[in-house]
Amino acid sequence: MRFRAKQYATTSDLEKAFLQIQLDEKDRDATRFLWLSDPTNTSSPLITYRFKSVLFGATCSPFILSATLLKHLKENPGPFATKARIIPLEIKSLCGDNVWRYCPTKDNPADLLTRGITSEELQQNEMWFSGPKWLNSKEDWPTWNGNNVTSSVCTTMSENDDKIETMEKNQNVCIGIGEIIDIERYNSYTKLTRITAYVMRFATNCRATETERKKDLLRSDEIKNAKFLWIRYTQGKIFSDEINCIDNSTKRKTLVRQLKLFLDEKQLLRCGGRRIDNATVGETVKFPYLLPAKDRLTHLIVLEAHENTLHSGINITLAYIQQTFWIPKLRQCVKSILSKCVTCRKVIGKSYPAPEIPPLPNERVQDATPFSITGVDFTGALTTRNRHNEESKVYICLFTCAVTRAVHLEVVYDLSEESFLLCFRRFVSR
Ligand SMILES: [Zn+2]
Repeated sequence: MRFRAKQYATTSDLEKAFLQIQLDEKDRDATRFLWLSDPTNTSSPLITYRFKSVLFGATCSPFILSATLLKHLKENPGPFATKARIIPLEIKSLCGDNVWRYCPTKDNPADLLTRGITSEELQQNEMWFSGPKWLNSKEDWPTWNGNNVTSSVCTTMSENDDKIETMEKNQNVCIGIGEIIDIERYNSYTKLTRITAYVMRFATNCRATETERKKDLLRSDEIKNAKFLWIRYTQGKIFSDEINCIDNSTKRKTLVRQLKLFLDEKQLLRCGGRRIDNATVGETVKFPYLLPAKDRLTHLIVLEAHENTLHSGINITLAYIQQTFWIPKLRQCVKSILSKCVTCRKVIGKSYPAPEIPPLPNERVQDATPFSITGVDFTGALTTRNRHNEESKVYICLFTCAVTRAVHLEVVYDLSEESFLLCFRRFVSR
């Protein structure tokens, strides 16, 4: 209903915007898909089709859409571009100022439906019915600082060992790579750092001239920088108080004192309390990076260490991690992560156990005279010779007392009902 509050409203069909952009002939191979030659017959042979236009719903589609529009605007300053330029101007003139504001994704009610939500969740969703919490107080309205984020991260990325730009200490608390890349979407530390390195390379390349752009394989220093970005981001997020009080000798936090924390030249929090400063070991072993125990990055690092040590136990994984990181309550954290490792479960898991033996039945444990509760069984056939030296089969009938475990044996000549009854009479008469 808020839709009606203003004088003008603009609507557009996003799906149509995508489908109206044609794909270049040579790019169409990238959007191939298989389909039945006869949709009514599921066993009909498959045919390969190709999309002629930009697909709606693919992850890369929004980028292709805006990239195509920008390219057309740049290359065709004709009627198309003029029209495309006029539309935003027209919208602006109709709406006046202060209408277009920034709304973070998590506070955008429109995203609830486009991203999927169950009807129960929607009915209980306060944001859908009354909008974001900050809507009523103008002072709390969020502002977009996207430019700061990108430039800050890019600056960090381009830093070299000998040319380091000092960052404001408060700045690294809230801005970082985690705002750009969602770590929850990755389940491997290597993958995360490599993707981060590629993203940072793209950001640097965008600002570089054609000749300066890097196009070859990722270099080790780029991956290292990506790792530093993630460590700095996580430290800033969790240990901001520690970072702020590091230079303040009177109000030092316990953790800072205990671990002798300090900020290195890359503004990363490191521990100095290992007392092995003079040992001939690597720099990260002497002064490991501090990371929190409960964080997605730590989780990924532990998993990676566990896999790099070929699914070793807790102690080896611990030792491997401590060569680079200092994580409080690490043993506990490693233990819980390792207990969920599927590979380890498969290897060291118990085999299928025999069922537990149930308690003895009533008859077996009650006081009774021998053979008052009796079980009967036959042995297999035994070969005997009679007085004429002829071979014949005999069986042994076993009477077992369920209480005393006493056994009575009777010879039977065959498995017929008659011989059993005779044998039973013999047993009873003894
Ligand atoms: Zn494992």
